[in-house]
Amino acid sequence: MNKVVSDLFCKAKGRVSLVSTVGLRDLSEKAERRFEYSVGFVMAATLFFMLNRGKVPYHKDGGCLMDEDYDRTKIVLGLVKPVLCQECRKKSKAGPIKIVEALLRHLDRYPRADKVLEPLDAGGRDAARHHGLGASAGR
Ligand SMILES: [Zn+2]
Repeated sequence: MNKVVSDLFCKAKGRVSLVSTVGLRDLSEKAERRFEYSVGFVMAATLFFMLNRGKVPYHKDGGCLMDEDYDRTKIVLGLVKPVLCQECRKKSKAGPIKIVEALLRHLDRYPRADKVLEPLDAGGRDAARHHGLGASAGR
């Protein structure tokens, strides 16, 4: 694996991979996921790629973990429902599928993002009640 492979959220070459989180916070909000979840998602894709030694390439966007995401907004599909498509399953060895699916199941249980809260204004209590802060005390 001599060439650098990229899906724009990660680059990999040999045993080295880099993950980019540029814009990922906003895209996480669109998917109603937390930023940490999305970082884990991108890392899972990189891990899957590396465990298969580059033999399961990134591909056209369709909601799979291994989508190219050349249009970075397309990652939202995968973030909403983290899955590996049938084509990737066919190309992969069994071990990486088992590892990455366990990771995706674990990530999928990560709490969903709450709606974005605006800063409290001078009448903070009213704003807090408006945004349902009182109701979320048990979380
Ligand atoms: Zn796929």
